[in-house]
Amino acid sequence: MKTLTLAALAVALMASTAMAQTPTTKKPWDEAFLPPAPQWQGASQALIRDGSDPWVTAFEADPGHDFSPNYVDTRAWFDKLDKASKLVRVEDFGVSPEGRPIFAVIASKDGEKLDPKKPLLLVQCGIHPGEIDGKDAGMMLLRDMAFHGKGALLDKVNLVLIPILSVDGHERSGPYSRPNQRGPRTQGWRNTATNQNLNRDFMKLDQPEMQALKRLQAKYRADLYVDVHVTDGMDYQYDVTYGYNGEDGVWSRSPATAKWLDEAFKPAMNQSLEAEGHIPGELVFGIDERNPKAGLSDGGLGERFSNGWGSAAHVPTILIENHSLKPHAQRVLGTYVFIETALKLLAQKGDSLRTAIAADSALRPATIPANFVADDKPSVTRAFKGIRYETYDSPASGATEIRWLGQADPELWQLPFYSSHPPSSWPAPRPTGCPAIAPTSSSG
Ligand SMILES: [Zn+2]
Repeated sequence: MKTLTLAALAVALMASTAMAQTPTTKKPWDEAFLPPAPQWQGASQALIRDGSDPWVTAFEADPGHDFSPNYVDTRAWFDKLDKASKLVRVEDFGVSPEGRPIFAVIASKDGEKLDPKKPLLLVQCGIHPGEIDGKDAGMMLLRDMAFHGKGALLDKVNLVLIPILSVDGHERSGPYSRPNQRGPRTQGWRNTATNQNLNRDFMKLDQPEMQALKRLQAKYRADLYVDVHVTDGMDYQYDVTYGYNGEDGVWSRSPATAKWLDEAFKPAMNQSLEAEGHIPGELVFGIDERNPKAGLSDGGLGERFSNGWGSAAHVPTILIENHSLKPHAQRVLGTYVFIETALKLLAQKGDSLRTAIAADSALRPATIPANFVADDKPSVTRAFKGIRYETYDSPASGATEIRWLGQADPELWQLPFYSSHPPSSWPAPRPTGCPAIAPTSSSG
């Protein structure tokens, strides 16, 4: 979600030079330049099917599971699945600036018209096209629903999957789009054909992709909306991090749904991810790229981001940031487990989530803050599973830089965590045991 560090920029420049000299889809410098990743094994690896399955995905068929198919092949695969399974249908919901249809895949037992009584999960992939884990995970899960005994996931819940939102950026692909990310070996470009970052446009809706997304959201009215990304920043042990506005009692425009996510969703989701071998963590951003132990922040709560918009619109919204230095396969499998578990939790607890959404929607705050500011003091200390590192004097930057060593630090880090807050209203923690209301302070 952030800008490149100086070190990453240096790698990118080297990469662009290498690309000019050696047109290849391989990244020969990859392991030499990226910090090592700890060895990983997890039960979720059993989800990968091989070439004996006629519905094997391109990700699964790739020997290193380091590949994600292009737009045309992805669409063709889903169109074939649509024809072969009654559970799945493909629906166009917009057109990109370069003329590509933007499509969603509807998975349901309801037929053309979805039963509004059933909770609906909307999973959006590729708003940043290089961060495409959700597409490969979604293909596997929908295939398993259609042919491998997981259709019961749809008994009480409906799923809408957007495999690729930023379709033009997805096709502006190459091996060096995200040099600080461990696969897939061909990656889409962060911005659109008009050079826009769509995960800054949730409020203004300048871009046709976002206008189309809003129409889709209005049509299907998700009970839970999941926006899948991959990190850019610091190293840590977690492979699947995720967050939402109002997490851990922090201020939110949607306090009841934040409480539901804190209490009904997060513990069960983390338990499921851990049972499959993954390492779930909270969505955090380092505050000092040259000092990983300086502290963490929430990255901001503004409505131009999906999670900020969701909180304002009372659409429970989770932003996933899979960790960029973990291999693509590990991240895809973690995303598969996340989506499958989210479907199960919606089936079990969808009623209480709808009660929470209704409570938030009934809020009538006297004033609505329009800006958020980062706290200047930490709100809590968080235990953090860090990766060991050393520092060195870099001749490239002229400064002291971090070198990650790829080994889990056996000592748990205790880091100050800085939240964000509306102007002039902090602290305004969520009351416990009673419905919370938004603060009524000046919007500043
Ligand atoms: Zn992103």
